[in-house]
Amino acid sequence: MKKLYPKYDPGTYHTRDLYRIVCETRDLRPVWAHKNANKWGVDPEKFLQLCGKECAICSETLDYGLGKNNHDKNLENKPSTHHIVPQSKGGLDVIENFKIICMRCNEILTNSTHKEIHRYIKIAKFLKAHTELYEEHIYKKV
Ligand SMILES: [Zn+2]
Repeated sequence: MKKLYPKYDPGTYHTRDLYRIVCETRDLRPVWAHKNANKWGVDPEKFLQLCGKECAICSETLDYGLGKNNHDKNLENKPSTHHIVPQSKGGLDVIENFKIICMRCNEILTNSTHKEIHRYIKIAKFLKAHTELYEEHIYKKV
């Protein structure tokens, strides 16, 4: 378990209630969920239920630290809110339209063109059909 900033700091813990929860549980997810639920205007408790320990796509461990608990994170450990139906396609800011994924996956999805996304879908289908070959390929590279 990483070391938490030991004092109440509004930039890190937002409210004293959240600070108390973190002190009791050593879990930073309620703080991150509170901040982001406010941003999207959704229920913090429901939003917290989306905040898994891992990216919903690639399964990297997520680090929910904010403020003074926000150490040098890699993009693949930084949680972000992903809209399943993109905002540009009319996707709403509602719990049902959110997944918590790492910033690396989010950037790949956000920065890809329509054509690239279709290529990834085809690659994913191909890999699924040839998993054993693929794993053998990776193994040989190591
Ligand atoms: Zn990811």
